[in-house]
Amino acid sequence: MNVRLTLFDTGFCRQWEMFSIKGGRLRNIAFHAIAGLIEHPVHGLFLFDTGYSPRFFEATRSLPYALYAKITPVVTRPEQSVKAQLEERGIQVEHIKGIFLSHFHADHIGGLRDFPDSHLYCLSSAYEHVRGKFGLRALREGFLPDLMPHDFAERTTFIDRSMPIPLSKAHEPFTEAYDYFGDGSILLVELNGHATGQMGLFLRDQDQGDVFLCADAAWSSEAYRNNLLPHPIAQLIMADGTSYKENLTRLHQLSAHWPSLKILPTHCPEVWQMTQGAFAWRL
Ligand SMILES: [Zn+2]
Repeated sequence: MNVRLTLFDTGFCRQWEMFSIKGGRLRNIAFHAIAGLIEHPVHGLFLFDTGYSPRFFEATRSLPYALYAKITPVVTRPEQSVKAQLEERGIQVEHIKGIFLSHFHADHIGGLRDFPDSHLYCLSSAYEHVRGKFGLRALREGFLPDLMPHDFAERTTFIDRSMPIPLSKAHEPFTEAYDYFGDGSILLVELNGHATGQMGLFLRDQDQGDVFLCADAAWSSEAYRNNLLPHPIAQLIMADGTSYKENLTRLHQLSAHWPSLKILPTHCPEVWQMTQGAFAWRL
């Protein structure tokens, strides 16, 4: 079943280019954090991640969390939060039925507490990895506990507690996914590596065709097209460097044999361009 995807730019952090691509330069570039609105014709409105929001600044006011804001200086305005961008178009937060969380880094869960009634979906391994972590232990995981709703566990479905289905040949080398609605519209795939239990999402947009929201399994489209690992220093912050490499190679192979599939890394400048064009707001 086809859905409709809209991408939102929620702000950016500044980072050296060399971190994202081996051979990249020592120049500052903007890493935008993109979130997606998915309109399902039967089940309603869902989000893929929640990007940055001004809550990031509150959550990093004191040490040790303030180090996070020092390492990745964030630029986001209140009107860039997903909540504000939805409301601007007449959609209230209570209209969002559910949120698929790729992983728990602050630039993906920044707006989570703006949606107190939405159901949440993630892989159990992702949550178990950050659950109960505070202070430096949280910071090491890129996790800001203040961004989490206190009733997280009660509102969450751990999708890997259901049985995966085999994927079609077109999805190779990805072989299985969690078909959340049972209609093939939202296929959730484990993308471990960048963060423990990271997940991506396949969908078919009614106008743009097949899409794979791959979160941070690659930091740019150039990286998966050419199978380029980030700088070794950036690889040090990966939860699992071996899995990261394997999944980047899988993305590379997928992009090679399925060229019409749009693989969208959250922080890719080309994806940011799409927020201004093809996938921009169109409800
Ligand atoms: Zn991340």
